[in-house]
Amino acid sequence: MECRKIIHVDMDAFFASVEQRDNPKLRGRAVIVGGDPARRGVVSACSYEARRFGVHSAMPSKTAVKLCPHAVFLRPRFEAYQEASKQVAEIFRQYTDLVEPMSLDEAYLDVTENLSGIATATATAREIKAKILADTGLTASAGVSYNMFIAKVASDYRKPDGLTVVTPEHAQEFIDRLPIGKFYGIGKVTGRRLLEMGVRTGHDLRMMERSVLLLAFGKMGIFYHQIARGIDERFVNPTWIRKSVSCEETLDHDTDDMSEILALLDRLSLRLESDMLSLGKKGRTVTLKVKYADFQGITRSITLERPTDERLIVLMHVKRLLEKTEVPARKVRLLGVGISNLDLEEAGEGFDGQLLLPFM
Ligand SMILES: [Mg+2]
Repeated sequence: MECRKIIHVDMDAFFASVEQRDNPKLRGRAVIVGGDPARRGVVSACSYEARRFGVHSAMPSKTAVKLCPHAVFLRPRFEAYQEASKQVAEIFRQYTDLVEPMSLDEAYLDVTENLSGIATATATAREIKAKILADTGLTASAGVSYNMFIAKVASDYRKPDGLTVVTPEHAQEFIDRLPIGKFYGIGKVTGRRLLEMGVRTGHDLRMMERSVLLLAFGKMGIFYHQIARGIDERFVNPTWIRKSVSCEETLDHDTDDMSEILALLDRLSLRLESDMLSLGKKGRTVTLKVKYADFQGITRSITLERPTDERLIVLMHVKRLLEKTEVPARKVRLLGVGISNLDLEEAGEGFDGQLLLPFM
């Protein structure tokens, strides 16, 4: 196959950076954007000044305030983020039609055939970063490589305002040295499991037998086997329109403890609500996903009369859907909550994409 040129662009601390841009008093200060700490909100974004205190996105706002009490705490202004996101998307379109947005602040570009006539992908990425800064006053980090996985990891390699290029000749070396925690697609639970198997780096992962990974992680194991070798055959897909929003979590241990199960559903509903808000969307079908301890997976859905993005409504329905499963008679290893049947009037505007991993 011909060698592709892929750029992954990721805005730096996006929501928090927009806030610092719009209010000069916030520059250089710890800024946390998120839901109400008193109402069990979660952190949507935080500035680098706040990250130094261990604050990160998706953390309960309450915890963030404890870690960084002097931080300025702000409610999200999604219209402002969507506006900036739209400006950035317009810049991308000057370089290629093959843009796949992943969220408000992140997108893949295939610049193998470059509309602007710039010779290299690296020069293109540099110019895109400069234009983003000029047009929006915000910085972005970019990763350049020959597939989506490596470009994604590369954009995260040096942040903020980074530009990392991984050529095919250097890809294996780059992946080999990568700590497992830096692999896109390997979450906390999987990371811990790999660590227990003695896998600490990309090199360790590459040394694992395909059959062992398949047995331990199912289909994702095959994906890990491939990415350890720098293989990722996904294409940048610009026609993709988001049809659902979902989040899921693997438990630390298989459980039939209902209080633990309900607490996780509560957390997932919260995360879902904040994802829906950041997309400015509502949906009518609520889905509960359950993976039992023996890896058998099932889903249960209900379609509502009115679209929703509200945590409490979602939670009420997933609790009812849970009654249509074999929980807690059978132990659970993973739970997921999703909304589909979205109102799509804004489809194709700005960034808007799935946060799901390949093969999931
Ligand atoms: Mg970002």
